[in-house]
Amino acid sequence: MYENKRATRAIIHLENISHNLDCIKKLTGGSRKICVAVKADAYGHGAVEVSQKALQWGVDFLAVATVPEAIILREAGIKAPIILFSIALDKEISQIVDYDITPFIAEKNYVQKIQSFAKAFNKTINVHIKIDTGMGRIGVTPDLAPDLAETVEKMSNIKLEGVCTHFPVSDSPDPDDIAFTEKQIKVFTKSIEAIKAKGIDPGILHTANSGAIIAHPDAHFDMVRPGICLYGYYPDQRMDKSAGDFRPVMELVSKISFIKKVKKGTSISYGRTWTAKEDTWIGSIPAGYADGYNRLLSSKGEVQIKGKRYPIAGRVCMDQFMVDLGPDSEVELYENLVIFGPDEGALDAADIGDLTGTIPYEVTCNINKRVPRDYVG
Ligand SMILES: *Cc1c(COP(=O)(O)O)cnc(C)c1O
Repeated sequence: MYENKRATRAIIHLENISHNLDCIKKLTGGSRKICVAVKADAYGHGAVEVSQKALQWGVDFLAVATVPEAIILREAGIKAPIILFSIALDKEISQIVDYDITPFIAEKNYVQKIQSFAKAFNKTINVHIKIDTGMGRIGVTPDLAPDLAETVEKMSNIKLEGVCTHFPVSDSPDPDDIAFTEKQIKVFTKSIEAIKAKGIDPGILHTANSGAIIAHPDAHFDMVRPGICLYGYYPDQRMDKSAGDFRPVMELVSKISFIKKVKKGTSISYGRTWTAKEDTWIGSIPAGYADGYNRLLSSKGEVQIKGKRYPIAGRVCMDQFMVDLGPDSEVELYENLVIFGPDEGALDAADIGDLTGTIPYEVTCNINKRVPRDYVG
C-alpha cells in the first residue's frame, strides 16, 4: 500500500470516544449495558477502529445497519455481539447465521427463516424483538409483540435476548415531543408486561438513543444505544448542553496549498458570486464537495488557522475552496488549518450542520473515503 500524503485528512481522536462513553455512563447511572451504534462506518469515523476502542472501554454490544457492515467487523476479528438495526434481505439470512449477527425481528416469517438456517447449521441465533411504539419504521405493533415473543420462544435455534423500541423525537425540547416520547415509554412498558404475563423472559430491555440518554432517564432500562453523543454531538442543537461534556471525535484538517494577493474587485471561484472588497490575500485549500465538504458552505463556512477564523470566499468547488486571508495576512504556504473539529474556537460538525440546514450526523457521515483517517489516542 502506498502512503496517502494528502493535506486534507480526518483526525479521529479516539480518546474522545472513551471520554464520551464516560459521560454516557455517568448519565445512565453507571450500571447499564451500552450498545454503540457503529453503523455507516461509525458515522464516518471508521467502524473497526471505533468498535475496538469502545470494546476496550467496556461496551457490551455493537450495532450496524447492514449485513456487510457486520461482516466487516467480524473479518477484522471482532467477536463481540453485533446487533443488526434493519431487516436483512432473504439472501442475507445465511450470513446472519454464518457471522453470528443479532438481528432485530418484527414478524414471524422473517424469524422463521433465520430459525431454518440456524437449525441447518446447528447454531443458536440471539434476536431482539423490535416494537414500533411510534417511530413508524421497522417494528411489530405493540399488541402483536407478546404473540411474536411466544412464537420465538418455541423455536429451537432462536433465543430471545432482548426487546426494544426506538424514538423519533427524544431529542426535542418541545413539550408535545416530550409527551410523545413519554407515551412511547408507557406503551413499551405495557408490552413488556404482557410478554412477562405469558411467562416469557424478554431479556435485555433497551430503547434509548442519544436523545433519550440525555433527556429521558425513564427510557434507560437495561441498555442504552448511543450514536451521535458517542461521536461528540447533541442530536438536537436546542438541547440543554450542560447534560454532558461530549467532545467531537472527528477533526477535519487541511493545509493552504496556494496563496496569492488579489486586487479589489477580483472575483473568486465558479459563478463569480464573491468579489474582493479590497486588495486581499486569497488562500486555496485542497478540499471540496467531492470530499463531503458541502457546496452549501460556499461563502458561508470558515476555517481556523493558528486560532483565527477566516471566511470562505465564493463557491466550494469539487476539490478545492478558497478563503479570504485579509489584506495584511501573514499566513504562509502549507499552513495547517482546521475545517471542523473539537478545537475551542473552530467550527464543529454541528456548526457546519447549522450552516447547511442539516445535522452533525450527516456532516461526519459525508466525509468520504477520499479523505484519509488518522487515528490518535
Ligand atoms: C442510529 C440508531 C441509534 C443511535 O441514534 P443516535 O441518535 O445517533 O444516538 C439507536 N437506535 C437505533 C435503532 C438506531 O437506528
